Amino acid sequence: MIDPRCRCRTIASLEGDPAGAYAREHLRLDAVATDGWSARWSCPDTGMRWRETYFPAWGAHDPQERLERLDRPASPPGTAHRRSWTRLMGIAITATVVAALIAEPILTR
Ligand SMILES: [Zn+2]
Repeated sequence: MIDPRCRCRTIASLEGDPAGAYAREHLRLDAVATDGWSARWSCPDTGMRWRETYFPAWGAHDPQERLERLDRPASPPGTAHRRSWTRLMGIAITATVVAALIAEPILTR
């Protein structure tokens, strides 16, 4: 089952608090750099890999975070449209077959 919070296919990067929240709530921690300033995460649903980097923000109380997606979504743009068109054709064919099956006993009677 795919996590409804998964936005790995639509978001390429996040900054600040939403970045940390997204990583902790949805992603799986793979590795933390020895210097402690970056970490590698991956999505349990899509397998997308993410890199999280921390950098000390001057004048801010908390270090800033940045989350960057390392993988591109597998399906190229336009695939979703083509798939929905194929599904529509499938529905149309099914409807024709069902209509034919319903109509046949009436015709032979
Ligand atoms: Zn995800």
